[in-house]
Amino acid sequence: MVSMVYLDHSATTPLDPEVLQAMMPYLTDEFGNASSVYGLGQRARQAIDQARDEVAAYYGVAAKEVIFTSGGTEGDNFALQGIAQRNADRGRHVITSTIEHDAVLRSAEALEQAGFEVTRLPVDRTGVVDPAQLGRALRPDTILVSIMHANNEIGTIEPIRELVAVTRERSSAYFHTDAVQSTGKIPTRIDELGVDLLSMSAHKLHGPKGVGCLVVRSGVRLLPQMLGGGHERNRRAGTENVAGIVGLAKAIGIAQRDMAKNTAHLTALRDRLIVGVLGRIPGAELTGHPVNRLPHHASFLFEGVEGESLLLQLDMDGFAASSGSACTSGSLEPSHVILALGYPRERALGSLRLSVGKGNTESEIELVLDRLPGMVARLRAMTPISAA
Ligand code: PLP
Repeated sequence: MVSMVYLDHSATTPLDPEVLQAMMPYLTDEFGNASSVYGLGQRARQAIDQARDEVAAYYGVAAKEVIFTSGGTEGDNFALQGIAQRNADRGRHVITSTIEHDAVLRSAEALEQAGFEVTRLPVDRTGVVDPAQLGRALRPDTILVSIMHANNEIGTIEPIRELVAVTRERSSAYFHTDAVQSTGKIPTRIDELGVDLLSMSAHKLHGPKGVGCLVVRSGVRLLPQMLGGGHERNRRAGTENVAGIVGLAKAIGIAQRDMAKNTAHLTALRDRLIVGVLGRIPGAELTGHPVNRLPHHASFLFEGVEGESLLLQLDMDGFAASSGSACTSGSLEPSHVILALGYPRERALGSLRLSVGKGNTESEIELVLDRLPGMVARLRAMTPISAA
């Protein structure tokens, strides 16, 4: 493999060898369908049951409250569509925020097209949703509030407990949180957060891609979106991804076991990155919350630089990173998250996200800190973006 410094753990993570080892039997000899009555099938069923128990214990819920899905996108869609469709008799108003992942934002748009009303709460300059503002937005016909636990582009951790408290005080709406970025990084016990639904994805925490879960508290009225067999207690049809589910539970177990150690390591690397970048590059600014942010997440804006060009420079030098902007029909579009923080378009185009993982080392961080200032200076010398 070409040597590369991987600094994009918010996009995805390498599979942990322990996770692969746990999955291997179910990718080879133990290939049974968990619905089959013979031994091979029943062993697959037992593996799923055990995985469900472990995931439930991690979140502090009952096993029957865990629905395995194909990942974060499905979990978010399932939560928004499933709650709205099943509870339209109680009301047709949904609240979310302007900085959610597209899986939530696109689902909210689909709800609008189906006749629901959606309120998108703004955030402050650091990406925080204000509980008082949520309180004012809640109405008697609000059926769902969906606010993410932590943001993928700017790392900000939302005050979920306070947001849930306000929701409970003022309404009977359900509360969903997208915990795709927070699971395995910071405590996400549902009995502590107080939410009714939570979605997550295994590949963000050294698990396999294409598997996740939606945790749904007992009593929550949710319409299944995937129709077919009676899998997942009739809530999500489809032959179970046994190896993926086993891998997801193993990844969660490892994250929980190593959380204190990993947090110390990740935080030290993140803080070195933040201090290094802000100290060495004039016109650099940290985006997201300075304190309440994910332990592995550093995100910046560079004045007078296009984030996409910086990514290419980094790639040529062997660094994998990310910028929130995306190329849509030939023109560069700034991230909706950075725009929601209140930055003008030109400034928002200069975003860079560096997200570290447990495999990164101090010397890798020093390497990127050595190279980045020169890249930014070179791009500034040739960039078409005005620094205004
Ligand atoms: N929600 C957030 C906050 C994410 O960061 C992502 C992935 O980037 C998703 C949802 C989608 O998850 P998945 O890749 O499992 O579909």
